Amino acid sequence: MSTITTAQAGYIAKLNQQLSDLGATPRAALATTATIAEASRAIEELKELVAQARTSSRPQLVTEGVYRRSDDGVMFRVQLSEKGNSYAKTLLPSGGWGYEKGAIYTLKQEERLSLAQLEEWGLSTGVCALCSRLLSTAESVARGIGPICAKRY
Ligand SMILES: [Zn+2]
Repeated sequence: MSTITTAQAGYIAKLNQQLSDLGATPRAALATTATIAEASRAIEELKELVAQARTSSRPQLVTEGVYRRSDDGVMFRVQLSEKGNSYAKTLLPSGGWGYEKGAIYTLKQEERLSLAQLEEWGLSTGVCALCSRLLSTAESVARGIGPICAKRY
């Protein structure tokens, strides 16, 4: 019976590395006398373990929206990247939103602002809390948010 291939052994080592990177316990390497079928089974099991470790290690991220961090009152906008990962941008003093690495992990779901809170903020600042643009029309200024952003939120 043919024994484990170099490619299989390499793949097993890679999966084990992923496991330990995720904080899970890696499996012992297979003996060089293990068969190809045994190696395949081990790979399937390891893939399953990696998937499980990924799910349990993923922190619960907040949903899309505008947040005011309670610690310091800084405003953040949480959005999804094209790949579907969420990240947070900080409201810049000069206007606009700037990406802040890791900021998303500092936010709590209960800090998400409601549409009414965005309007309130917009009324006091004259800025649309979602797109960070100055509110220009009389209607938007009176409401505290732009019509398109209000619909989007
Ligand atoms: Zn807007």
